[in-house]
Amino acid sequence: MVRTIDGTEALTADMTAWRRDLHAHPETAFEEERTSDFVAEKLASFGLEVHRGLAKTGVVGLLRNGEGPAVAFRADMDALHIHEQTNLPHASRNPGRMHACGHDGHTAMLLGAARHLSAHPNFQGTIAFVFQPAEENEGGGRVMVEDGLFEKFPVEQVYGMHNWPGLEVGKIALRPGPIMAAYDIFELTLTGKGTHAAMPHLGTDTILAGTQIVNAWQTIASRSVHPVDSAVISVTQFHAGDTWNVLPATAVLRGTTRTFRKEVQDMVERRMGELAKAIAGGFGVEAEMRYERRYPSTVNEAGATELARRAAAGVVGESGLDLDPMPSMGAEDFAFMLQQRPGCYVWVGAGPSDGGRNLHSPHYDFNDAVLPIGLSYWVRLAETVLPRAA
Ligand SMILES: [Zn+2]
Ligand SMILES: [Zn+2]
Repeated sequence: MVRTIDGTEALTADMTAWRRDLHAHPETAFEEERTSDFVAEKLASFGLEVHRGLAKTGVVGLLRNGEGPAVAFRADMDALHIHEQTNLPHASRNPGRMHACGHDGHTAMLLGAARHLSAHPNFQGTIAFVFQPAEENEGGGRVMVEDGLFEKFPVEQVYGMHNWPGLEVGKIALRPGPIMAAYDIFELTLTGKGTHAAMPHLGTDTILAGTQIVNAWQTIASRSVHPVDSAVISVTQFHAGDTWNVLPATAVLRGTTRTFRKEVQDMVERRMGELAKAIAGGFGVEAEMRYERRYPSTVNEAGATELARRAAAGVVGESGLDLDPMPSMGAEDFAFMLQQRPGCYVWVGAGPSDGGRNLHSPHYDFNDAVLPIGLSYWVRLAETVLPRAA
């Protein structure tokens, strides 16, 4: 049974209004100007000390209540480059931009927690409410860390959450160790000798070499990775040729890999390069491989995960906890903060994921039934990770 904190009806109504306002005005990576102003104004009106400018549009609100440890709670503020198709009254007014990942809801819930905890500071210490830009693709979390987030705000732990379609409303999922994967990208350029398509013996075929490489890469997951470990290698682009009757001199393959452990990530990068070079070489084609590490895997620390579990149980009860969820091969740039400080990232159930209700769908809309649950989790977490006020 869900037990939200007392007296949140008015706050839930406000969070719903904030969430829909943010939804109607989505902004993407490092351009969250209006969103950043919105957050900063709200935090200031709740009496928090507001710091701006980290990672350009990032906002940090500090709430102090006497001497004690410091922790950070983080939300993401950015939208996606998607054309919204919901036809809702609060649908995006910025064409081609959409809150399709629920970061509008994440921002509203953390603002709600800041307001509630400011009015009822049932803890001793400091909470840094971190609102980061550019979670999608551009690594705003990394930029905040590089801009000195943890030097300016020396917290001991850091916590994050994401709404999770496919998990019932009223459930919270969490686990120690990896919960989301590392996200890398690659680009392979094959250069051979183009020739007339009817005279293949006069050239070297980059398309044929490329197809063999795509096949061979799939053996990395099945033959180089430990059978109980995991990796995904997805070739998502294969560009070659312009016409019917010419074997092209170049082919370019691009895609993404997902892994959980650094050793596997290192091995995948190495094996992809080795196979590409060896196979291309066998066909008389040159291979140039570019591999770029984007987001590390999101790894929860055991001690912080236990505190998060207790806080979550206080909201959704023991029966509402999923303590062994299958980790996702999706990625999350909160991982950069977890590399710096121990912490925990949880999934808050958002209901069914079918019928366009999944993340990044043009039909998605954040489920407002999650607002009081996420709010209550933050409030219970503050009371769990910090000492109670005397
Ligand atoms: Zn997303
Ligand atoms: Zn997201």
